[in-house]
Amino acid sequence: MSRPIVATIHSAALRQNLEIVRRAAPRSRVWSVVKANGYGHGIDRIWQHLSDTDGFALLNLEEAIQLREQGWKKPILLLEGFFHSDELELLDRYRLTTSVHSNWQLQALAKARLSAPLDIYVKVNSGMNRLGFMPEQVHNVWEKLRALDNVGEMTLMTHFAEAEKEEGIIEPLKQVELAAEGLNCRRSLANSAATLWHPEAHFDWVRPGIILYGASPSGQWQDIAGSGLKPAMSLTSEIIGIQQLRSGAGVGYGYRYHAAAEQRIGVVACGYADGYPRHAPTGTPVVIDGVRTRTLGAISMDMMMVDLTPCAQAGIGTKVELWGDRVKIDEVASSAGTVGYELMCALAPRVPVEVL
Ligand SMILES: *Cc1c(COP(=O)(O)O)cnc(C)c1O
Repeated sequence: MSRPIVATIHSAALRQNLEIVRRAAPRSRVWSVVKANGYGHGIDRIWQHLSDTDGFALLNLEEAIQLREQGWKKPILLLEGFFHSDELELLDRYRLTTSVHSNWQLQALAKARLSAPLDIYVKVNSGMNRLGFMPEQVHNVWEKLRALDNVGEMTLMTHFAEAEKEEGIIEPLKQVELAAEGLNCRRSLANSAATLWHPEAHFDWVRPGIILYGASPSGQWQDIAGSGLKPAMSLTSEIIGIQQLRSGAGVGYGYRYHAAAEQRIGVVACGYADGYPRHAPTGTPVVIDGVRTRTLGAISMDMMMVDLTPCAQAGIGTKVELWGDRVKIDEVASSAGTVGYELMCALAPRVPVEVL
């Protein structure tokens, strides 16, 4: 590869993060969430390193089939269920567990001709108002589903809107209990934040995503700093140019940065077309040759400029960590006004990926 940028997937970090999930929720089974192509890491690159999990959860039928064809035999959960009734044939063929969040899906399940029953997750809307039945509808829906020959094992699921907050799941849990009244059912409620911070929500299956990749569900790295979670992806590149600025000189598009004095800066082969956030302002952290420094001015499509003041030894070819072990993806994200989730999912296809 000629251009020096590369994303590195750390298989040991994936394994360790899954182990930390196990320790956090020792009595629950684990759906490892690998939607959005494994949060940008590439499902086919990562799933074997997470194969100690009890199941994989995702939402794209194609990705589910890909997992089956690569040899994954244990459960796969479609988090949003099927999108059209004609997909049921494939759910049947590939033995996929499906969420059921709407009445039309119930009717489709009733009508389908399946070779064997499918396990289902009945989704309850516990306040987020995204997908799911209202708690007071669940009893009726549950009984109807249970009566169908096409339905196997049933589990109640919900998704939390703000599980990173201390009081964030109190009301949603009440809604779940309302829905579950008299059902004596299995439950799957906990995303990463609830897996880490709300053991009372663990129940039968937890569904962590972001923590498997070593980023924080709250968007703040400090919140997981003591957890042992490790970044599963690093993005690195090199310095490909050096400029010696005079006092007052501007840098990059719009001259968004001006040197207050003479200053040595580096040009790094990484830009927003690689998935680095264009909104990252001057001051976003980077590590150059092991030394922490910062971006200067606007991020270009293919390049960015960085302050070499603390890195006198840096020159052409010096390694730059954009995110990874020393600059957490959460730090870059919060500097740019977003969350680690978005950055990892947005890693551009043009970036070469290696797996260590
Ligand atoms: C994405 C998702 C998860 C995982 O969320 P994280 O915050 O990444 O842990 C769990 N459940 C559902 C339904 C999801 O859509």
